[in-house]
Amino acid sequence: MNAIDWSNLSFGYMKTDYNVRSYYKDGKWSAPAETTSENIDIHMAATCLHYGQEAFEGLKAFKGKDGKIRIFRMRENALRMISSCHGIMMEELPVEVFEEAVVKAVKLNERFVPPHGSGASLYIRPLLIGMSAQVGVKPASEYLFLVFVTPVGPYFKEGFKPTPVAILRGYDRAAPLGTGTIKVGGNYAASLTAGNKAHGMGYSAVLYLDAREKKYLDECGPANFFGVKNNTYITPLSSSILPSITNKSLMQLAEDIGLKVERRPIPEEELATFEEAGQVGTAAVISPILRVDDIDENKSYIISKDGNAGPVSSKLYNKLRAIQLGDEPDTHNWVTILE
Ligand SMILES: *Cc1c(COP(=O)(O)O)cnc(C)c1O
Repeated sequence: MNAIDWSNLSFGYMKTDYNVRSYYKDGKWSAPAETTSENIDIHMAATCLHYGQEAFEGLKAFKGKDGKIRIFRMRENALRMISSCHGIMMEELPVEVFEEAVVKAVKLNERFVPPHGSGASLYIRPLLIGMSAQVGVKPASEYLFLVFVTPVGPYFKEGFKPTPVAILRGYDRAAPLGTGTIKVGGNYAASLTAGNKAHGMGYSAVLYLDAREKKYLDECGPANFFGVKNNTYITPLSSSILPSITNKSLMQLAEDIGLKVERRPIPEEELATFEEAGQVGTAAVISPILRVDDIDENKSYIISKDGNAGPVSSKLYNKLRAIQLGDEPDTHNWVTILE
């Protein structure tokens, strides 16, 4: 194999050695087993293809200075996948099967875990799909759970720089009201048009308003939103946003460093009062926001006056990264160290 140029990886797919699969059939999940195949043999009437029985997760593994591999908050992802299963009537995947498959996929592809200090990490993508044939609108009786991994580069090629985001009032984030709290591909498919429009206008993401009243901030396409003012970390409370594990971690760290934390509805107008704001998720941890433009209302909210990330965002970003990499003590027990 050619040597991997760790410092020039993008956030994309690279073939690794193995992926790990478990099948649900006749009432039970098979033991997670590895394969080298990148393909799935799938029935043309499988429910994942027609009726969107598909959920996924995203998490990361890091190499510490000590050479050990660390997986960040894997159990949280396992629990969230269970709630996704409930949301679209898929067979519930046990936490143990999830964790066993993730650990196995990472260990088998150990040579793809980027070295400490490269800024890169191993992205882990668990996927659960309905496999058996249905023509009527009914859940499948058979499922496939699989985990693949791929090394990904540092999210910020140009450094930790704020970018502008857009409010597009004609679009809702979650396809039907109510599916916003589960991590399913259908919501992403429905967000592609808005995302594409925003990117075309030079924005890094869409900042969605609540679908019911178009009054409160919900979240960005694939990331939660937070704002900072008066020494307080403020993030939306809403029945239509995905519970981000990064956001949950940052709320804890904000508290740890002496900030107040508020989870409550945030009216759009409050954007004018934030000293800092950001998008948060596994891919980037924090992606600072430069400005929010409400396109249809012709309003603009400048968040970063000097074009740089603010002190609170920077501190939280560095702290979370340090815990993930094992450079700071893992006081909240978030990290699984592989033996
Ligand atoms: C995955 C995801 C996030 C980020 O969640 P993390 O657990 O922090 O990666 C935010 N919003 C949506 C819609 C997502 O799918």
